[in-house]
Amino acid sequence: MEDEEYNMMGDNRDDEENNLMGDDEDDEENNMMEDDDEEDDDEENDMMEDDEEDDMIEDDEIANENEDEMNLLENEFDISNTKLLEIENILSCNLKKISAYDYLRYKALHLFFKGWQNENLTKTDASLQSAKIVYNKGSYKAQQIRNWAKYWVENESLPKSLQGCHQKIKSLIDDEDIIEQSLSYIRKNKGKITPNKYKNFIEQELFPQLEIEKTISNKTSRIWLRKLGLVPQLRKKGIYFDGHEREDVTNYREIFLKKMAEYEKLMPIFEGENMEQHNPEILNDEKLHILVTHDECLFYSNDDRPVIWAPLGELPLKKKGQGKSIMVSEFLLETIGRLKLNNEQSLLYPNIPTEARKYLKPGKNEDGWWTAEHLLDQVLNYAIPIFEIIHPNSIAIFAFDNSTNHGAMAKDALNVSKMNVNPGGKQSLMRSTVYGTNQVFQSMVFSSDHPIYSNQAKGMKQILIERGLYYEGLIGDCQLCKEKIDDITRTDCCMRKILSLQNDFISQKSQLQEEIEKRGHKCIFYPKYHCELNYIEMYWGAAKKYTRDNCNYTWSGLQITVPKALDSVPLITIRKFARKSWRYMDIYRKGITGKLAEFAVKKYKSHRRVPDTIYNEIK
Ligand SMILES: [Zn+2]
Repeated sequence: MEDEEYNMMGDNRDDEENNLMGDDEDDEENNMMEDDDEEDDDEENDMMEDDEEDDMIEDDEIANENEDEMNLLENEFDISNTKLLEIENILSCNLKKISAYDYLRYKALHLFFKGWQNENLTKTDASLQSAKIVYNKGSYKAQQIRNWAKYWVENESLPKSLQGCHQKIKSLIDDEDIIEQSLSYIRKNKGKITPNKYKNFIEQELFPQLEIEKTISNKTSRIWLRKLGLVPQLRKKGIYFDGHEREDVTNYREIFLKKMAEYEKLMPIFEGENMEQHNPEILNDEKLHILVTHDECLFYSNDDRPVIWAPLGELPLKKKGQGKSIMVSEFLLETIGRLKLNNEQSLLYPNIPTEARKYLKPGKNEDGWWTAEHLLDQVLNYAIPIFEIIHPNSIAIFAFDNSTNHGAMAKDALNVSKMNVNPGGKQSLMRSTVYGTNQVFQSMVFSSDHPIYSNQAKGMKQILIERGLYYEGLIGDCQLCKEKIDDITRTDCCMRKILSLQNDFISQKSQLQEEIEKRGHKCIFYPKYHCELNYIEMYWGAAKKYTRDNCNYTWSGLQITVPKALDSVPLITIRKFARKSWRYMDIYRKGITGKLAEFAVKKYKSHRRVPDTIYNEIK
């Protein structure tokens, strides 16, 4: 069960990550072979995006494109030895400055001139030999080479018209040798090809062989994979939660948004290009509030890409399970980023832990499962002490996901699901409570002088009798409740239902909340299915991207990379992530949800709030 939940969460995050990240992050890679003006984006978006055009231009189209030129150029020309040396010079000195496409053209020219001049071949034979060696192509390419040669002799440059952005990349992947080596690499790594891995192979193995010192973009890598007949295969996604606008969820969302709006008045906000901190005015009887958001995330050892590339119809078998994984439980705050002490603070407070972050490696023979107790320990013994050093005299608003784990109640909490109908036996010994408008005291346990059930739990029936709510024939559990069929109008069908609707049972807080409040801080739970409101999700996205780009996804590699990935996200980026969640909250408060909310969030990208005129814009 736990495993499933983690898996679902993990998958879900992968999907989200892309949506959430795109806006604020731009990590352009420079020094690419071609200048794609798009960012090096993720696979999910990539699949929707239309790079077919680049991909689909076939050889004969290029041929047509250049046909006029060809007809004009089929002429006689001569070459001196200096021309040959010039090409040799270009090939030996300027490798970094010429495109791979041009490199191959120069190489072809060089071979052509050498064959023709030094080996006394005819021009046609020399060009055919060159076409064969450099491109593994025939007479058409040979003719092209002769035309380049003529152009070269006359202009001391190569015809520019051929340097369109498509051809220079295409030509390389059209090279039989490159195709052969690529395919052999792909066969060796069956089922594990990703554009990033293939890019590494090209740059680190193939190009060095060709003496090409270049990098290629992820986009080029994907185009080449497509050329090789590989297509991105959708990995099966986790369960799609369509609960975003469920009535109980939206009702709770409203409560959440109202509470957050109240807290926000006392929180520092971060705005402007540099996301500077602006503190609110704090009255004497108030304290500064700081949102401390929490979440858990799994990094899998064989989860390097949401999309794997494979030959069409050859979806690689998905291994059972996700392999070994590292779970991270982390806190973020907009003031400092990750919840941790700086060097100075940890020297000053040697008894306070430096880091709030916790790792767990779930699964066989590892640390076991992450439970409510782990989180409680992390909050009470790590997060709160650290927070109080960083923000003395402030109130932390700890924000958690609405998971059952986080909502776990204390052992003695009022919890109707831990009660039996009758006294005694195996049921929780619960804390005393008060009920009714007069706040009548009630013990949930019989006193020590009870003749039969001394110090034992009273059970539901006795509790209801004492409250005057029991009637003859009332059953413990009715069929509908047992089958979990909910109906808000059904309020007195069985003991468990009646008791669960009693105020003291309804207002029973989770142990996490109780303990946080005991220490003078506050606690809030995000609405279900609303991960866009917890900005730590975007942080996970950024960390997972870093992991993908830097990890070889072995188990030891993962253990080294994940901490680095988590540290790699800059504070300003974290603040921008948070701003996006605040913007979502503002938009939801304005009554805008779903697709329109997404539109508004994108449109007002650099804002914490959207203007009221938003209503007119989204018609
Ligand atoms: Zn019932």
